[in-house]
Amino acid sequence: MSRPATAATRLAGVVGNPVRHSLSPLIHNAWIAAAELDAVYVALQSAPASFGDLVKGLAGGAAVGINVTIPFKESAAALADERSPAAQRAAAANVLVFREGRILADNTDGVGLLAALEGAGFQPGGGPVAVLGAGGAARGAVTYLLSAGVPEVRVVNRSLERTRAIAAIDSRIGAFRWDQVAEALDGVAAVINATSLGMTGEPPLELTLDGAPTTAVVMDMVYQPLKTDLLTEAERRGHPVADGLEMLIGQARPSFEAFFGRPPPEVDVRRLCQQALDQGS
Ligand code: NDP
Repeated sequence: MSRPATAATRLAGVVGNPVRHSLSPLIHNAWIAAAELDAVYVALQSAPASFGDLVKGLAGGAAVGINVTIPFKESAAALADERSPAAQRAAAANVLVFREGRILADNTDGVGLLAALEGAGFQPGGGPVAVLGAGGAARGAVTYLLSAGVPEVRVVNRSLERTRAIAAIDSRIGAFRWDQVAEALDGVAAVINATSLGMTGEPPLELTLDGAPTTAVVMDMVYQPLKTDLLTEAERRGHPVADGLEMLIGQARPSFEAFFGRPPPEVDVRRLCQQALDQGS
């Protein structure tokens, strides 16, 4: 925090469950301090049943906006009064901005994802992309990739119902079961883990990359740990890789601007996050 909080301090934050792993407070508070704003960004854990009430309470004047993380992105889009085209396409939101009691939803996950992929040499027109997972993060990723020029997205997920719901969004989205993963990886330009598997405290992601060409960029949205087993295996096989921290920082930039009406200042937030991850916070 750049200064002691007062009655005039603006409040923003991230709501999720679990949310204690989130690095968003570190990133946003570093930007708030560098920009000398009278504001604070906090992490708020919500029980699934109370998410709607919490958001409506915050939107009533308590906060300028929130980021939304696992598992509330689809609920966040559903309860908003207005949705940006990105949130509308994904039917999922990672940003809620509160204006005069109204809730405006946006989805900046795709912006962050593409920045991370392009940093590893990915080109949207380069071929199909396989996305593991069909939750809120996957929805944002899939729809944004298509709008950026990816010709085909193959979604692999445990729950077939959720996979089919994503595939229903666009005819360029294919639905695959886990036992069809080799088929889904055939000839791809990128493989993206958008499940929570492999995250500290969650079950491991058991995936063989054998079906994917070694030119495929392998990206893990999980950033705790930063070097997941998936990325370790991908590097061993010679794939270019992108980690979840690049995406996190990339989605946070437009979120900050939406909350505070100005772009974030230049701060090496990646280094701050890496230090926090090294210290296990
Ligand atoms: P959701 O809860 O909406 O979705 C979770 C996904 O993980 C679903 O596809 C779910 O499958 C799958 N999954 C969970 N447990 C298992 C399991 N035991 N076996 C198989 N599949 C499983 O979460 P989000 O979409 O919001 O987030 C997903 C991940 O992406 C999280 O780790 C999150 O931290 C990360 N993320 C990172 C971002 C970044 O900036 N780096 C941004 C956004 C998200 P099913 O449908 O079958 O339940």
